[in-house]
Amino acid sequence: MKRQGWTLMELLIPPKMTCPRRKALTLIELLIVVGIIVTLMGLILSVTLLARRMAYIAHCTNNLKQIYLALKLYEEDYGAAPYLPHNLVYYKPDIASVLICPADPTEGTRFLGGMPRNWGFRCSYEILYLEFLIPVLLHGEFEYLDGTWRERHDPNNVMAFCRWHRPVSSTKPDLAVFYDGSVRWWSSLSKRRGQKPEGKR
Ligand SMILES: [Zn+2]
Repeated sequence: MKRQGWTLMELLIPPKMTCPRRKALTLIELLIVVGIIVTLMGLILSVTLLARRMAYIAHCTNNLKQIYLALKLYEEDYGAAPYLPHNLVYYKPDIASVLICPADPTEGTRFLGGMPRNWGFRCSYEILYLEFLIPVLLHGEFEYLDGTWRERHDPNNVMAFCRWHRPVSSTKPDLAVFYDGSVRWWSSLSKRRGQKPEGKR
């Protein structure tokens, strides 16, 4: 009698029906495995890219701090900011080793837009704390009193910045070193907007 029952089950689920089911399951399993592998690879890649970006930022921050120290030393020695970045390199030739940002694919030979930077030395950074640029970077809110720019020691003044950390969008801020020696993200647009109400008063 039991054997008859088995035969009924076999009739209900014929062996031919089980074969396609197994194939379908194997395909789904394959897809799941492939999906997991792709997701894992994506995660590993994004983690690697993030780690590399963080390392670049740390390297760039250190470079900016070295540039800041060189600018301060120059100012102490000459009583003024360098006229051009060239003056800083002539004054402190060692500075050349920290003028290249690891995120700069041109290794300091070109500006962000692609224009060649024919300075005679390689540089990834925009140095703002230059004698001829000081009136411009203070956005007109400066006074020349007793032989010095009155607001030149404002801690919000940007001494140098790196544009290579915002290659996609121009609205993203740059990594900058300020007059107080701190390195933080800076956007020239937000700085201008933030300073206008204070200037009008
Ligand atoms: Zn940089």
